[in-house]
Amino acid sequence: MHCLSCGYDLQNLDGNHCPECGRIFDPSDDRTFQSPASARLSLHPSVRLVILLFIGVSAIGLALIFFVSQMYWGP
Ligand SMILES: [Zn+2]
Repeated sequence: MHCLSCGYDLQNLDGNHCPECGRIFDPSDDRTFQSPASARLSLHPSVRLVILLFIGVSAIGLALIFFVSQMYWGP
């Protein structure tokens, strides 16, 4: 399990708060920390932003190529 705020590995800790950022977690409540399953699925916000930007730019590029090709070689 990892910290929801900073992703610090919370396993084998004495206290119930993250030593990295101080966020309190409850080992018996999986909403207060990041479980291994959700850690695998969720990406770092900046990584997600880069992927979204890449998809957006690709979509705009494809739309532009389609538009230009329609203008010059369209019916
Ligand atoms: Zn933390």
